[in-house]
Amino acid sequence: MARIAIAGGGIIGLACALRLAGDGHAVTLIDPDPDGDKCSWGNAGGIANTEVVPASMPGMVWRVPGWLFDPLGPVALRWQHAPALLPWLLGWLQAGRAGQVERIAAALAGLLGRVDADLAPLLAQIGCIDDWHRLGALAVYRSAAGLRADRAGWALRQCHGIAFDEISGAEARAMEPALDSGIAAGVFMPGWSHVSDPKLIWAALLAAVRAAGVAVVRSRATDIARKGRVRLASGREIACDAVVVAAGAWSAALARSAGDRVLLESERGYNVTLPDAQVHLSREVIFAERSFVATPLSIGLRIGGAAEFAGLSAPPNYARSRALGRLARDYLPGVNLAGGREWMGNRPATPDSLPVIGPSPRRADVVYAFGHGHLGLTLAATTAQLVGDRLSGQPPKLDLAPFSAGRFG
Ligand SMILES: Cc1cc2nc3c(=O)[nH]c(=O)nc-3n(C[C@H](O)[C@H](O)[C@H](O)COP(=O)(O)OP(=O)(O)OC[C@H]3O[C@@H](n4cnc5c(N)ncnc54)[C@H](O)[C@@H]3O)c2cc1C
Repeated sequence: MARIAIAGGGIIGLACALRLAGDGHAVTLIDPDPDGDKCSWGNAGGIANTEVVPASMPGMVWRVPGWLFDPLGPVALRWQHAPALLPWLLGWLQAGRAGQVERIAAALAGLLGRVDADLAPLLAQIGCIDDWHRLGALAVYRSAAGLRADRAGWALRQCHGIAFDEISGAEARAMEPALDSGIAAGVFMPGWSHVSDPKLIWAALLAAVRAAGVAVVRSRATDIARKGRVRLASGREIACDAVVVAAGAWSAALARSAGDRVLLESERGYNVTLPDAQVHLSREVIFAERSFVATPLSIGLRIGGAAEFAGLSAPPNYARSRALGRLARDYLPGVNLAGGREWMGNRPATPDSLPVIGPSPRRADVVYAFGHGHLGLTLAATTAQLVGDRLSGQPPKLDLAPFSAGRFG
């Protein structure tokens, strides 16, 4: 049995805590606000195990200026943050080269191929198996040109054995009658699934972690420079044999204190949840040309997306949530936006769309579990298995080299 400290009580830290407590370790979970809002609360709820396509693809760079100057566009930048963002941006450009994309997609396929098998027992353990809806997802296009523009992504999915069916606009509307008649084409992905409400899953996980005897400490971990010690903002130190860094978008500073430089940004995402949408969707729908999604959650229809680079401390710009609501009206005529709850979350994003999972290249006692970008809910159970195997001395189920912090140099 080892003493393991985990920094971060989002979906990733909690999933790791449950696995490690189950292995018999003495686990301490550290979070400045264990019960407070976090990225893991308000996401779109998608189990997007088909998403082997990285955020940076060849040629995509030419689409970015158009997005940046479109007030409803999927990408926004607060210009004051541009100098700090530059190294990350250069990494993003490099990740979009053809050879890199192949490598990244193969690594993502390895992780995503494990998702269903890892998630099922976790959801069963925390009493949420009936909150997992395995109904696929439907990507819809307004024009054939829009579908053509995404060909490379669909070809990449095909290379990795991801099942999908291209269907006509009429077939898409037969699956989801709430869609506007101007939908020209659709792609149905049967492997995708969604949960009733990501916050509900997070809350059940936190309850299970507490029930498993994990000590929850309300404080911020400030540095892990000294082996066997986690220093807290409260001034206290926690003695441990190993530390897991799972502090989402805040993880880079802790990694730096262990001597590792990682490229990590907050890719802020927005949504609006409509308690009385007055339109019905059966499954998650992806509005591909405008890069946003709608998920039918138990608490309402959630319309979400956007990628805003503004750093970790800038106040949210909820005009982006309202813009998503207006966009949804174009695709879902009759949708009722009244009473919509606006939300922003800090996606922990690496430039190459790969999470950082596994031991620090410098310190065997430090294990990383952050940087899951758009896939943190999807990959939580799988990350927990990989971290658990590492710390419990079990053979790795996957080669962790592509996810090493060492790749940032
Ligand atoms: C709009 C939007 C839609 C999304 N949709 C999906 C989706 O459909 N499917 C999917 O899989 N993913 C989705 N995501 C991504 C997903 O939400 C994230 O990848 C995931 O929540 C990250 O979890 P985390 O535990 O790493 O971070 P978080 O949930 O952010 O948790 C990090 C925790 O670390 C704590 N912390 C911070 N600093 C410290 C410190 N120094 N010491 C200790 N603790 C610290 C914080 O208080 C916080 O509790 C979406 C994200 C957004 C924004």
